[in-house]
Amino acid sequence: MDTPDLSPATLAVTAGRPDREPGAPVNAGVVLSSTYVSQGPPVPGEAMYTRYDAPTWHPFEEALAALEASPLPALVYSSGMAAVAAAFSLVPPGGRVVVPRHAYQVTLVLAHELAATRGLEVVTADLHDLDAVAAVLPGTALVWAESPTNPMLEVADLPAIVAAAHDAGALVAVDNTFATPLGQRPLTFGADVVVHSVTKALAGHSDVVLGAVVTGDPDLRSRLDAYRRTHGAIAGPWEVWLALRGLRTLALRVARAQANAQVLAERLAAHPDVVEVRYPGLPGDPGHALAARQLDGFGTILGVRPAGGAQAADDVVAAVRLWVPATSLGGVESMLERRRRFATESPTVPEDLLRLSVGIEDVEDLWRDLDQALRAARGGRD
Ligand SMILES: *Cc1c(COP(=O)(O)O)cnc(C)c1O
Repeated sequence: MDTPDLSPATLAVTAGRPDREPGAPVNAGVVLSSTYVSQGPPVPGEAMYTRYDAPTWHPFEEALAALEASPLPALVYSSGMAAVAAAFSLVPPGGRVVVPRHAYQVTLVLAHELAATRGLEVVTADLHDLDAVAAVLPGTALVWAESPTNPMLEVADLPAIVAAAHDAGALVAVDNTFATPLGQRPLTFGADVVVHSVTKALAGHSDVVLGAVVTGDPDLRSRLDAYRRTHGAIAGPWEVWLALRGLRTLALRVARAQANAQVLAERLAAHPDVVEVRYPGLPGDPGHALAARQLDGFGTILGVRPAGGAQAADDVVAAVRLWVPATSLGGVESMLERRRRFATESPTVPEDLLRLSVGIEDVEDLWRDLDQALRAARGGRD
């Protein structure tokens, strides 16, 4: 379907449907077959073997491409990290990559592993500091961008970073997991590659692990496709089907969770037992002005530092009854965790930082639970 004028909220519903004809199903089916009838030399486009290409991937790959404004289908992978690893494979041996200081922690772990095993030169930078980025760009092969970052919610000027990186001959990959394509479409800023942990808001129900890469560049896409065939981190058909099913309600879920997040951020910022709230939707947040210009909506994730340090943060997590103490984010259910409980989290992330993934529950129920947990943590200190 050629529908470039539809908004992302509509495309999430309409893209990747079977062709409209009498008797056609509204939803594509799940094809459970590892192989397909074929003989002789492979015919381009013909189904052959499920590690190469699978019919159940196509509707999701078309829908995500439409959402990210890509002329080429997305590529689905078995996890967000498989997608991140595929994107890093675009860096030549010994090439330099610039990664955000507060990138998703496992992306940083992978980058440092590739430094050890493939000789990549990994430079960490604060992407919201354009001068710092410009200083390390000459000779860089890939700039890895996350905006907002996980878990610090820092916002980077993506169009400016893309322009500077391209001037220096570097590719730009954007991990768009936090913003979702409803918040920003990095390919429209000139980014070369977009990566998603589909596990999070796109699938949205905490029931699948899945990843995807989107690029409008045919050469990059064929390299990413070849990487998927050879390294074999392919998605299962049920996971892709579930993710597409989840994607259909993306706009509703994000709108509700985002409205909840704004209310909670404002109330938490005024709470006597809270030291700091990071949320780009708060007028006083360092990323607010840029986010207001660049993003459609401020997202569903908050960073919150309760009074009383890491112990108080752990006490809050122990005291919630509605919020789920768990890692991951972007599901319909609200979750929280103290990020530094992971030894691999960046040491510059505060010890007491709680990452809150706001879901679609009633906001007053969410607020009452947080408030009682913050009070309980204070009671533990008194
Ligand atoms: C979760 C996450 C990933 C990794 O995705 P998985 O699906 O868990 O492999 C990558 N980037 C960001 C920003 C994430 O939040």
